[in-house]
Amino acid sequence: MIRIAVCCLCLKTKKENLMLFGKNICQDCEAELTQSSTEDLSYDLYVEKMKDVLTAPSKEDKNMV
Ligand SMILES: [Zn+2]
Repeated sequence: MIRIAVCCLCLKTKKENLMLFGKNICQDCEAELTQSSTEDLSYDLYVEKMKDVLTAPSKEDKNMV
């Protein structure tokens, strides 16, 4: 079954890909993350985003607890 979820990084509605703490990370962003190195300018942005994701209280994952 294919589920649709909003990607927590690009905020686009995509096919559920990688669920991290109840948040979806789409395939594109996962690829960005895995391809990013510490020298990439975008890496910092993603790290900041990931911190938001990991520290923000989830509103929509009541069924995950
Ligand atoms: Zn995304």
